[in-house]
Amino acid sequence: MTVARLAERILEDGLNAGRGLWSRIGRARLMLGAVTLIAGGALALAVDPVAVGFGWLVLAGAALYAAGDDPRDIKPAPVALPAEDSRNDVDLDAITPFLDEIDLGIYVLSANGSVLFQNRSAGTTFGAVPQGAHISARMRAPGVLDIVRDTLTSGRSNQIEYSERLPSERVYLVRSVPVGGVTRAGEAALYLLMFRDISEARRIDRMRSDFVANASHELRTPLASLRGYIETLQGPAKGDAKAQERFLPIMLDQATRMSRLVDDLLSLSRLEVRAHLPPDKVVELGPLLEHVRDALLPLARDLEVEVVLDLPDEPVSVNGDHDELVEVFENLVENGCKYGAEGGRVDVVLRAIKPRGAEVSVIDHGPGIPAEHVPRLTERFYRVSVADSRSKKGTGLGLAIVKHILTRHRARLVVRSEVGKGTEFTVRF
Ligand code: ADP
Repeated sequence: MTVARLAERILEDGLNAGRGLWSRIGRARLMLGAVTLIAGGALALAVDPVAVGFGWLVLAGAALYAAGDDPRDIKPAPVALPAEDSRNDVDLDAITPFLDEIDLGIYVLSANGSVLFQNRSAGTTFGAVPQGAHISARMRAPGVLDIVRDTLTSGRSNQIEYSERLPSERVYLVRSVPVGGVTRAGEAALYLLMFRDISEARRIDRMRSDFVANASHELRTPLASLRGYIETLQGPAKGDAKAQERFLPIMLDQATRMSRLVDDLLSLSRLEVRAHLPPDKVVELGPLLEHVRDALLPLARDLEVEVVLDLPDEPVSVNGDHDELVEVFENLVENGCKYGAEGGRVDVVLRAIKPRGAEVSVIDHGPGIPAEHVPRLTERFYRVSVADSRSKKGTGLGLAIVKHILTRHRARLVVRSEVGKGTEFTVRF
């Protein structure tokens, strides 16, 4: 395997280098010289420290020279080069099962850039490459080819971000690294080219920053309006009873809009925290839908809409959280009343689906939603018409909350809409 062989090779080379140095100095000569010096030194101290000592030192040097090995006779220990020491010294067959299980797109390249192996993930993402073909036969992106070229020539690791627009927009972090597998000529012969898909992380980053920007914007508008009125009442309209009477209800309206928004934001963040915990209670849907209809009666009456329930005779229950499901159906029925008011009627139909499922449809007979908007309705702050939503006291978060709650309930939201005929939101448990 690459890493093991590389480590073995480094160790072997190190030992041989040390051995060569040791031999060159002349191990035998050194040993003998040392013994002679110690004996000579002792005698010199005992008899005549100057003359005798010097004589012994000369003798010791001569003995060292005569008795030691001639460094030129000593050959460094041979570096063991296995017969198959080329790019094939890496047993690719042995490591491919491991590489196949890694969820990064991985190419193993030779020193000239040809593909020795492509793992399963790379094959699925980028398509098959014939073994031995040059990497440029599959990868045409100049940035990717540049880092490969640089790594092959300089032996440096490189990293870039690479994005593809087709068939769908994807972003990859691409790394090219040398991994060794030493050839006879001492060149590093194996390289990895790896693609980490970071599209999802990027999407979440973008969503998060869009969300913060949208939330701030939504709060800033009523806040600015409130400030304006307060400044007017403190300044030019100070003590003006008529102005107060006119402005205060608008100010209350703006403050209520802000608190609705904050409530929805808090609701969303609470749901995110609990997203991974499936609800563990049993909820009977018939009485829950009756409760929703009763709660929305004043709004429906104001909008001159009739909410009609169609419930089966036998009780229908699902695993769920009562309050969260109330929030789901309140949102859907309220939207049906607000946006489909001109239809004059909202139908709420409950059906049991054998063996343990259920389906609730909220159907209005309003203007409907153009098809291009339907896939985006559950995005936070997405509105078909911002002005329409604002005038109807919408925050643009209702359907995002619905989707979050349904995800936690392992339920699906299906939207069917026809312009001019109406809209049907169906929750499938
Ligand atoms: P809002 O607070 O604006 O109502 P929602 O998330 O509940 O936010 O809905 C998002 C958008 O979807 C609304 O602004 C509206 O444009 C559209 N919408 C939702 N329900 C309906 C419906 N029954 N008929 C037509 N349009 C709808």
